[in-house]
Amino acid sequence: MVRRTEKSQAAFERARKVLVGGVNSPVRAFTAVGGTPPVIVKAKGSTITDVDDNTYIDYVGSYGPAILGHASEEVVAAINKAAQRGTTFGAPTEAEVRLAEAIIAAMPSLEKVRFVSSGTEAAMSAVRLGRGATGRSKVIKCAGCYHGHADGMLVSAGSGAATLGVPSSPGVPDGTAADTITVPYNNLAAVQQAMRDNDGQVAAMIVEPVAANMGVVPPAEGYLLGLRNLCDTHGALLIFDEVITGFRVSPGGAQQLYGVRPDLTVLGKIIGGGLPVGAFGGPERLMKHLAPEGGVYQAGTLSGNPLAMAAGLATLQALLAEGFYESLEQLSATLADGLAAAARQAGLGGEVCINRVGSILSCFFTTPPVTNYQDVSNCDAKAYAAFFGSMLDAGVYLAPSPFEAMFVSSAHSEGDIAVTVEAATAAFAQASKLMLKGAVDR
Ligand code: PMP
Repeated sequence: MVRRTEKSQAAFERARKVLVGGVNSPVRAFTAVGGTPPVIVKAKGSTITDVDDNTYIDYVGSYGPAILGHASEEVVAAINKAAQRGTTFGAPTEAEVRLAEAIIAAMPSLEKVRFVSSGTEAAMSAVRLGRGATGRSKVIKCAGCYHGHADGMLVSAGSGAATLGVPSSPGVPDGTAADTITVPYNNLAAVQQAMRDNDGQVAAMIVEPVAANMGVVPPAEGYLLGLRNLCDTHGALLIFDEVITGFRVSPGGAQQLYGVRPDLTVLGKIIGGGLPVGAFGGPERLMKHLAPEGGVYQAGTLSGNPLAMAAGLATLQALLAEGFYESLEQLSATLADGLAAAARQAGLGGEVCINRVGSILSCFFTTPPVTNYQDVSNCDAKAYAAFFGSMLDAGVYLAPSPFEAMFVSSAHSEGDIAVTVEAATAAFAQASKLMLKGAVDR
């Protein structure tokens, strides 16, 4: 396609005058890949359309919520219906009970849920609850995992923080960061050491059970179970941040896929069907520490918002359809295999690593395997930028950062995948030129 950009450029110029960097979330600014972001007007199914009327096959999916594709009929209808009845009440509703029941039915480690308005809020509140319930203050997290932008979690964080090379942000007090212990992902010995060095002080280990904010990095065999055992041995809670993986990698999330039960679970994205939502939950024995039953304070004006609850419920109902996850898995495997073949065709067979778990995947421009943030940091960022630019020009919209996953939705068709793989063959060739040049320059 011939991509037009005049209107996006003008709109983004205007945005930059009133929004910091022209955006409301840093990764959207294209800092890592260069150029001006397309300014979006609409999205439907597997595609997204910008103000210049370019339509792209979308693998960002709003960074995870759009598992049914964009503007799916059932979700839009549910939102419309709910909106007619009022958009917020600040009082209990039946919709929030129904969504809580649906989540609990899918994830047996949860007996009670608290809804909030974002994944950040959910992770922050789960950590507070973990501290309140154990009476301990330290938290272990993995380098490259992202748990939202609460102060204590912005230490060696992935996602936008990794994109901008800000391992820990200015404005996070030293005292707060001191309670966060960082360990490499997929390294049980490091967690064991941290637990021993801080014996009796670790409230919780929080982890993305499939890391998806440094690109997709699956847990090594036995890693999650090892974390479970170490937490039990040291009296710490295990918190799975399933904001991305919840209802994504299986109906019961990564905890179902890998058969490991966390103490607390953090959710977001899919459970809000594209509206602002987050949630955290766990067994009664822990959740009862939360206000109003317990002393750990947590509240929100728009928590359990009726539109978000309706969109979330409609989404979860659609996911229950017979064979939903099987066909998504198959489509995603076809895409991953196609990308690997395209990379080989461009002579990058040994220089590109494709990681995939269910419908989230990543192309890393480095030698396989990619198992932790150190490996991810070795990726060729310029090659990714070239790949990204070439894909965009061919009508395929990827995340503008090597640290974000590709998200496949049930709205993607075999035809979309074929177009994507064809575009990738040319895009890998572009990236390959740069990588070869880089090797010569070195
Ligand atoms: N945890 C994880 C695993 C995430 O991927 C994200 C966002 N990408 C968050 C927490 C924060 O969620 P939000 O952006 O909704 O605050």
